[in-house]
Amino acid sequence: MNWDDKISKNVQAIKPSGIRKFFDIANQIPGVLSLSIGEPDFAAPDKVCEAMKASIDARQTSYTANSGLIELRQEIAKLFHDRYGVDYDPVDEIMVTVGASEGLTMALLALTEPGDEVIIPDPAYVAYPAAVEAAGGIPVFVPTYAKDDFKVTADALEQVVTPKTKAIVMGYPNNPTGTVMTREELLPIAEFVKKHDLVVMSDEIYCELVYGDTKFTSFANLPDMRERTIVLNGFSKAYAMTGMRLGYVCAPRDGLANILKLHQYMIMCANTQAQYGGITALRDCAADVESMRQEYDARRKVIYKGLVDMGLPVFEPKGAFYIFPDISCTGMNSEEFCEKLVKEEKVAVVPGTAFGACGENHVRISYAASMETIKEALKRMARFVEKYRK
Ligand code: PMP
Repeated sequence: MNWDDKISKNVQAIKPSGIRKFFDIANQIPGVLSLSIGEPDFAAPDKVCEAMKASIDARQTSYTANSGLIELRQEIAKLFHDRYGVDYDPVDEIMVTVGASEGLTMALLALTEPGDEVIIPDPAYVAYPAAVEAAGGIPVFVPTYAKDDFKVTADALEQVVTPKTKAIVMGYPNNPTGTVMTREELLPIAEFVKKHDLVVMSDEIYCELVYGDTKFTSFANLPDMRERTIVLNGFSKAYAMTGMRLGYVCAPRDGLANILKLHQYMIMCANTQAQYGGITALRDCAADVESMRQEYDARRKVIYKGLVDMGLPVFEPKGAFYIFPDISCTGMNSEEFCEKLVKEEKVAVVPGTAFGACGENHVRISYAASMETIKEALKRMARFVEKYRK
């Protein structure tokens, strides 16, 4: 039997992740310093772990409501009200998911008709185009450039919008670039969205990880945007809870009801223990988040200075835990650079092209690694860049 005749064309169109491929190369080489991972190097806060254990001890081992424990949804509603200035009804405007990944997938499945176009700023988190394609849609990339710190503009969006455009995916603070868009920069995007009657999928998973005087703006907080925004968020990054697989979707009730239909048939509910952990995370772990944020910030400063000292063009990232330098002075493209760097200096970083064509000549370096690892990796990278500099 030929599986190519059986597997759907939508799924065949999905390219394997360039991050994974690179990870596999790095894993085969012993003693590699990895700055390639997109997950915190911290463990989840102790209180979260204790709450999860306590829920097991109390034998809270059943399904929860499909949309999640109401106490957790109430905490999420409070967080959005207090910190991001958006009001959601915990009863029918918030749904707890298996990570932001599930929210992304279900929201795109709920939105997309065959042939619908979804605009994605390039470079982008690898799951966005894959989820659009799996849902039968067409990812349409809008280029962003290093000279603009990879910010997307309404003018650029006007170049790619068509009558088939259904939605736009916004992901700021950004993976892979570390870019944060300010409220002023987002306002024209909101105008564009309204003018073309689009839905916004706003991936706000890094919203707690912003640095310096940078302020995070939830897309739903912009004028008239709450009604047309699907907010995707989760506990993986700020709370270092990647393995617990806990996230959530906030959206106006008419939209959310349809996303919930898919979730209730395909998933039932997010893991019950993780949900108890999530309640504690939101109620009691602000200090843990802040101390991790400060540590990322200290590393961010060291890595930024290290790359500037190497003479690599790089902008200072304002959020998430990634930095995205230009490596073209070595005469290599981003894949060659990463392959040679890992083989010669045992430092793993990810080619910018794994995130789209606009990532060419750049590499994504994650600073979710210890300061010691970062300092040693910078030393090795400096030697490498010096050796190949044209
Ligand atoms: N969005 C972005 C931008 C991410 O970087 C990630 C994790 N790498 C996710 C979503 C998925 O997160 P989760 O663990 O909540 O599914």
